[in-house]
Amino acid sequence: VMIQSVNRSFQKGEQVTQALRNVNLTINKGEFITVIGPSGCGKSTLLKMIAGLDMDYEGRIEINGKHIAGPSIKQGMIFQEHRLFPWLNVEQNIAADLSLKDSNVRHRVDELIDIVRLKGFEKAYPRELSGGMSQRVAIARALLRNPEVLLLDEPFGALDAFTRTHLQDVLLDIWKKEKTTMIFVTHDLDESICLGTKIVIMSARPGEISRVVPVEISHP
Ligand code: ADP
Ligand code: ADP
Repeated sequence: VMIQSVNRSFQKGEQVTQALRNVNLTINKGEFITVIGPSGCGKSTLLKMIAGLDMDYEGRIEINGKHIAGPSIKQGMIFQEHRLFPWLNVEQNIAADLSLKDSNVRHRVDELIDIVRLKGFEKAYPRELSGGMSQRVAIARALLRNPEVLLLDEPFGALDAFTRTHLQDVLLDIWKKEKTTMIFVTHDLDESICLGTKIVIMSARPGEISRVVPVEISHP
């Protein structure tokens, strides 16, 4: 992912908020980036632009050398609130529009259920799942689409501390097995240090990257 001279401002009547100013960042294939900074520093805005959900910016964002043209499965996005279909069970939620009768899909769904540690819950419905389990379903659903990059916007923000630690573990495990490029937004310093090969630190005003710090992953 290459982010070049990106500026984004929001105008409300007379008032202009500069959310991002001259952001430049290169993220290599297979890197696990965490983006940290205080509330309002532009983290979500940056992620939405990479996801192709916000196209109203100056500058250029490329994935694999191609300018982002809009939302795509190439950029899997995970939000704080999981959006599962209540009428579908776990494996159907992961497959969604893909058919479980297709043996390739079936095989990969089973593999992913194993990776996100949901074995035994294939036939469970969203209402029977905890928050953390639901997030793992959402992650498996995104991974089934082979995204070039997985974008996670405070995905564990609504979870208790214990579950959060567990999911950080699961996510590192996924990253090691799948070698997916990850961009993980958080305002939790501890989380940004535990995850990630690089921390991108943003300052509150005017939405600039103040530092990029490499970290050593100390995961067993
Ligand atoms: P963070 O995710 O770091 O909390 P955001 O990216 O959500 O920050 O917001 C960055 C800045 O842009 C904030 O000042 C916010 O108020 C402003 N902003 C974000 N989205 C909009 C919007 N749709 N309309 C107006 N201002 C916005
Ligand atoms: P997570 O850390 O993913 O949120 P929890 O901490 O809620 O998961 O639960 C840990 C484990 O407890 C789960 O992996 C699962 O095996 C089991 N569990 C959680 N919720 C349920 C449930 N509603 N029914 C049966 N087992 C559950």
